[in-house]
Amino acid sequence: MYDVDLASAISEIKRLKVRVVALQVPEGLKRRAYQYAEDIENKSGAEVVVVAEPCFGACDVPSSLFDLVDAVINVGHSSIPSIKFAKPVIFVSARSNVPLIDQLKKSVDMLTEPVGVLATTPHLMDLEPVIEGLESLGLKIKLGEGDTRISHAGEVLGCNYTSAMSIGNDVNSYILIGSGTFHALGVHLATGKKVVVLDPNLEEPQEIDQIKDRMLRQRHAVIEKAQRARTFGIVIGEKIGQRRLRRARELRKLLRWKKRDAVLIMMDKFDPDKLKSLGFDAYVSTACPRIAIDDVAMYDKPLLTPQELEIVLGVREWGNYVFDQMTDDEF
Ligand code: SF4
Repeated sequence: MYDVDLASAISEIKRLKVRVVALQVPEGLKRRAYQYAEDIENKSGAEVVVVAEPCFGACDVPSSLFDLVDAVINVGHSSIPSIKFAKPVIFVSARSNVPLIDQLKKSVDMLTEPVGVLATTPHLMDLEPVIEGLESLGLKIKLGEGDTRISHAGEVLGCNYTSAMSIGNDVNSYILIGSGTFHALGVHLATGKKVVVLDPNLEEPQEIDQIKDRMLRQRHAVIEKAQRARTFGIVIGEKIGQRRLRRARELRKLLRWKKRDAVLIMMDKFDPDKLKSLGFDAYVSTACPRIAIDDVAMYDKPLLTPQELEIVLGVREWGNYVFDQMTDDEF
């Protein structure tokens, strides 16, 4: 379903005269890692070490790799320009090869122009044909630029919707190319606009209303449970692009002002058992915003986003519920 073109990464490895390179591959492509490794070794002469740990994004390049290797190839993600690494990290996109034209035609009646066009990272290459397709069907489109966490116009991350928000006042709906509904919900909550999803795994374009209601009910229940909590652990992600120390300190200050006990916690990979053994009444994650939402069923104790904590403490209205985002001033 995805094509990976390693040619430019191989040229870069040769140009940099890299001797040992680490290869990070997302879970969905792990079985092809050995082919990629062989290809890189044969064509560049560099030795390849495949990283077995899961890799969730450009935020997730362990600093410890640089003790062992001269460079890292990270497949399936685009760079986050505001993250600076100790050694070269070469990002290689994985291009979805599923044609979307049928879904695109079906989506036209669901959209109100001007339409903002968005894509998750694996589907950035689909932006151009979708824009051309919408324009040929007579719709006006807009493409937004994101902040310094975003490297391509129209790109959305699960932690950043700024390319959608930058055109929020200029569009009446969005079309988003990507798998699942998380990013679409995030865009909808951040902008208040309708979002139609073109998901290459599905036959039909999707609206997100029903999923939104179910997700909001779930989050409401977590928030309600957290209202009884007295002690809070505020988790700072150890991954290089998730270390929001400043945001975590602000939340600790807020909790103490509201007469709750609060302590900062460092964690790399989230694990319910690790939190269980710490024994707090509730937790707040300042790491990847997807963890609290996607993994809700895994945690006995409430695991909140920063905005959900604000609702618990009465400094944000439930009506202003939004997904968490990572912006540069929070690090
Ligand atoms: S923080 Fe989460 S959503 Fe953002 S890039 Fe990292 S893995 Fe993706």
